[in-house]
Amino acid sequence: MKLIGWMILAVGLSGALAFPCAGQGTFAAKPIQIAILDGQSGGPYHNWRLTTPALKKELEETGIFAVSVLTAPPSDGDFSHFKPDFKRYRAIVMNYDGPTWPAELRAQFERYVAGGGGLVIVHAADNAFPDWPAYNEMTGIGGWRKRSEQAGPYWYYKSGKLVSDASPGPAGRHGARLPFQITARQPQHPILKGLPPVWMHANDELYGMLRGPGKNMTILATAHSDPNNNGTGHDEPMLMVLRYGKGRIFHTALGHDVFAMSCVGFITTFQRGTEWVATGRVTQKPPATFPTANTVSYRADIAQMDPAFLNGASPVVPKR
Ligand code: ZN
Repeated sequence: MKLIGWMILAVGLSGALAFPCAGQGTFAAKPIQIAILDGQSGGPYHNWRLTTPALKKELEETGIFAVSVLTAPPSDGDFSHFKPDFKRYRAIVMNYDGPTWPAELRAQFERYVAGGGGLVIVHAADNAFPDWPAYNEMTGIGGWRKRSEQAGPYWYYKSGKLVSDASPGPAGRHGARLPFQITARQPQHPILKGLPPVWMHANDELYGMLRGPGKNMTILATAHSDPNNNGTGHDEPMLMVLRYGKGRIFHTALGHDVFAMSCVGFITTFQRGTEWVATGRVTQKPPATFPTANTVSYRADIAQMDPAFLNGASPVVPKR
């Protein structure tokens, strides 16, 4: 992939451009209650201690959300004190990847979404819970944690058409972190309406070979997975919406780390996706700083929430 010729736009720390929707949200009579659910993962990646504050800031700055954080114990931990009242929230944002949950908590979560609760799946949250059928219906597609053809077919776009491919094999793959283009497939959906049909996402993992039931799933946007970067050669689903019972779900495969989450394209689709699952509509206008087809646009005030930024790393310099 060619790096020369990419224009880079970093929105400054002043915040002057950072709140394009402030006028809309400031006077919202009643904030929409949202909970970010995080925890588990482990290792140096998918560090929710860094990413949850970024997600929280992105939602709160819209002025329309009030955001709580629910940190779940690790799968082998003590769940006797983790009794979230999901019904208090219009939507749950899953920033969580772990192998399993107790049956009672699973059942409570299923009732919440089936009964009309909103759900946002962020990146590695689609790795979680391979053995929980209802959760895999909610995410539509997922990867890793030993998923195989039993999880469902692969889903991707080929020659402009959605394909479900029942070939056997593992699930989940990505190359080195690079900026890559996102292409809208449902540009009139409220989450994407008014955004450019193609835009350049900041450094991120481009998930491919995701598999799952894919029920009640609409692919909003894809990204081409480059065979020269361990890719599949397909256009892989990046942004999806699903229904589970009465619940609306927005699934973004984007968001490996704080840098990926500092992309104005990530931020905008995350803010809008969360509003859409919570209320069924989107009132937020696109920001003037939205990336174009060849221009990465990221927020330095978000990127600096990862200490690596202060050490010279950047959301636009590819990680090899
Ligand atoms: Zn990742």
